[in-house]
Amino acid sequence: MDAEQLREHAHKMVDFIADYYKSIENFPVLSQVEPGYLRGILPDSAPNHPESLEDIFNDVRAKILPGVTHWQSPNFFAYYPSNSSIAGFLGEMLSAGLNIVGFSWITSPAATELEMTVLDWLAKLLKLPDDFLSAGEGGGVIQGTASEAVLVVLLAARDKILRRVGKNALEKLVVYASDQTHSALQKACQIGGIHPENCRLLKTDSSINYALSPDVLGEAIAHDISNGLIPFFLCATVGTTSSTAVDPLLLLAKIAKSNGMWFHVDAAYAGSACICPEYRHHIDGVEEADSFNMNAHKWFLTNFDCSALWVKDRNALVQSLSTNPEFLKNKASQANMVVDYKDWQIPLGRRFRSLKLWMVLRLYGIENLQCYIRNHINLAKHFEGLVAQDPRFEVLSGKYILRFAVGAPLTEERHVTAAWKVLQEEASTLLGSL
Ligand code: PLP
Repeated sequence: MDAEQLREHAHKMVDFIADYYKSIENFPVLSQVEPGYLRGILPDSAPNHPESLEDIFNDVRAKILPGVTHWQSPNFFAYYPSNSSIAGFLGEMLSAGLNIVGFSWITSPAATELEMTVLDWLAKLLKLPDDFLSAGEGGGVIQGTASEAVLVVLLAARDKILRRVGKNALEKLVVYASDQTHSALQKACQIGGIHPENCRLLKTDSSINYALSPDVLGEAIAHDISNGLIPFFLCATVGTTSSTAVDPLLLLAKIAKSNGMWFHVDAAYAGSACICPEYRHHIDGVEEADSFNMNAHKWFLTNFDCSALWVKDRNALVQSLSTNPEFLKNKASQANMVVDYKDWQIPLGRRFRSLKLWMVLRLYGIENLQCYIRNHINLAKHFEGLVAQDPRFEVLSGKYILRFAVGAPLTEERHVTAAWKVLQEEASTLLGSL
């Protein structure tokens, strides 16, 4: 890598990205292209000779940006937030610059140790129990996504119970969650070899705000035990994706514990709100969980990907996921003096993702991060107030609904108000045509 060429090109790229953010509101949020649009306008094969950065920028403007859906637009209210920030961006840049592959401590001690430190910071900010801190038997790890997080803990839980009851019992293992739980759990069950009929997605309804009922769970577990099955994994959610339902952690934890089950809490979407003291009660009961997950890449100003997972028993992960080939052996690992994150995840290779989370925490500080969350919640309340004033609309969940998710970093009240006007206009057109 030529350092001066990097400087010149990277400056141009930063200018390009800064200009993009300056004009982001000019783009239609949802890409307007048709499927396959790119095939016809790009060459069939890679160029034989180098092309100029200018030519590539021109293609990005003319051919790539039209096919981009602008998740960072202040007018983006779909799915869930996926925040970028200057701090997160700079952390990504530094990570790309260093480009280490930090699978074992020895491959870049700073990558492992910064990750441990930053996840301890975040755990303290969320007031997670001390058992999740790296000083004891547990600790935090950055996974790429919440899907990987639930997969690795499900594998750890599966192998833990199989060590107890014998490998032949795999067919009898049962997983429990509510019918609002993210499909990532089902995928984890598929990958983990759980019998397709043994993933219980228990029914919820509006009378209990779509939360998992401890009574329903207790009955399902008792029924399965009486049929010779083995309950082993409970996934509760704090902030389900479609309705932000919050499962009652403490009551569920008691049931999981009394049945010797692993208790995982998925707070991928809404967990960030719990850095504010007034929302922390939503994860009361996390003290009893075996694992807890929150996506910093959703609503915590940390560019994708950065999914924070904490476990109380890191050995359970290591026992399921470690391999020890000759070419990875080194003194520190063999003396058991270090954490080797390769044994806490599916892939071997891993990026220096903690840099961006560290930069977010340092460049914003806790107070600003709390203000950021509160501002979005106020904007969502503003939207709720607008809806309440129009008798043609009602705020509810669980039916076929219009879902409005505030959380893009640049969103202000005017964007929310403008979105509401669009909805009202569409409603008027629709109702007028009936
Ligand atoms: N869990 C919840 C509650 C979510 O909202 C999501 C994403 O929408 C996921 C899990 C999956 O997240 P990821 O894309 O990080 O796998």
